[in-house]
Amino acid sequence: MVEGMLAQILGDDPRQRLRLTRFFHAAGVYVACGIAAWLAVATGLETAGHVADLFIFLGAGQLCFYIALRSGFNLRFGDPALTAAQMFFAAVGVAAAYMAIPTARSFIPVLMCLVLVYGAFTLTPLQCRRLGWLCAGVQMAAYLLAAESWAGAFAPSVALFQILLGMFIFVVIGDLAAQLSALRHKLRSQKAALNDALTRMHTMATHDELTGLPNRRQAIDLLAHEERRSMRQARPPCIGVLDIDNFKRVNDSLGHQAGDETLRQFSKILTTALRPGDVLARWGGEEFLLLLPDTPMEDALQVLERLRERCAQPSSWAPSQHLRVTFSAGLVCLTPPETTDAAIARADDALYVAKASGRNCIRTA
Ligand code: GH3
Ligand code: MG
Ligand code: MG
Repeated sequence: MVEGMLAQILGDDPRQRLRLTRFFHAAGVYVACGIAAWLAVATGLETAGHVADLFIFLGAGQLCFYIALRSGFNLRFGDPALTAAQMFFAAVGVAAAYMAIPTARSFIPVLMCLVLVYGAFTLTPLQCRRLGWLCAGVQMAAYLLAAESWAGAFAPSVALFQILLGMFIFVVIGDLAAQLSALRHKLRSQKAALNDALTRMHTMATHDELTGLPNRRQAIDLLAHEERRSMRQARPPCIGVLDIDNFKRVNDSLGHQAGDETLRQFSKILTTALRPGDVLARWGGEEFLLLLPDTPMEDALQVLERLRERCAQPSSWAPSQHLRVTFSAGLVCLTPPETTDAAIARADDALYVAKASGRNCIRTA
C-alpha cells in the first residue's frame, strides 16, 4: 500500500523518482521555515499579512516545480532536475523572506548559505559560482529594498558593512560549493573509468584476444555450470570439439598473419550461424569447443552439420575466399553422472575418428 502511494506521488521511472525525492527533501526545508514563520505569527512577533503572502508565493512556486517534475515536463530541458531553476527560486524566496519577515533578518542569510550548500550536491562548478554571485546580488537588492526599515536602527556605515560582508560570504561559499561540486564530478568520472577498466579486465580474463570468443577458462566455468544444471534438471547439453583441418598448411603457405585472420573469420562464420544460448569457445590453437545446452543429440548433429556446410561454402568467406578452411568435429551428449571432462575426452576420441575418416566431417560418440 505504501509502495502504491509512493508510486502515485513519485511515479515509476527511477530517475524521475530520484529527482522528485530530492525535490521533497528541499520542500521539507520550506515546510520547516513555514512552521517557524507561523510560530512567529502565533506568538505575535509578526503580522500574518506579509508572512501569508510570502508562503503563498513559495507554495505556488513549489507546486509548479512538483507538477513540472511529476508530469515529465522537466524532460524537455537540458537540466531535467530543474536544479538551477529551483536554486534561483530558493534564492529569490530567501530574499523575499528577508523583506517580509523583519524579525527573522538576522538568520535569513544563513538560509541563503543553505541554498548554496544544496548547490554543491547538484550543480556544476560554474553554476555554483554563478549561484554565489546571484545570491549576493539578490540579497543586496533585498537589503536595499528593505532599507527604510533598518535605516533608523543602524548607521549607514554599519549597514554598508553588513551588506558587503554578506555578499562576500555568499560569493566565497559559492566558490567552496564549486570546489565540492568539482570534486563530486571528478569522483564520478573516476568511478566511471574504474568501472570501464574492470569491464575491460573481465573481458580480457574471459575472452580470447584474437577471435573475441570466450576463452578456455571461461569455457571451463560454463561447462561446470552446465554440469550442475544438467544434474538438477536432467536435460543434458551436447558438447562438440572442433578442429580446423590442415591448418598448419595455411600458416605455411600464406603466413602466420593470414593464419590469424583465418581463425578470426572462422569464428565469425560459426558464431553468426549459432543460436543465442549456444556457446563457441576457443579451446586452444585451432581447436574450438561448442556447448549446446539442453539439446538432444540429433538436434546437436544438425547444428554441427549446418556449421560445417556454412564453413565449406566459399561465399561465407567472401571477400577472402583464399582463407577458406573446413573443420572436423567430435560430438557427444553429456550423460550424467559423467563429468564434462570425461565427455570432452569422448568428444576428442570422436574427433580423432573424424580426422581419420578424411576430415571435413562430424563423428559422434
Ligand atoms: P589437422 O587437420 O590434423 O588438425 O592438421 P592441422 O594442420 O590443423 O593440425 P596441427 O596440429 O598439425 O597444426 C595446427 C597448427 O595451428 C599449428 C599451429 O602453429 C597453428 N596455430 C595454433 N594457434 C595459432 C594461432 O593463434 N595463430 C596461427 N596463425 N596459427 C596457430
Ligand atoms: Mg587442425
Ligand atoms: Mg589441433
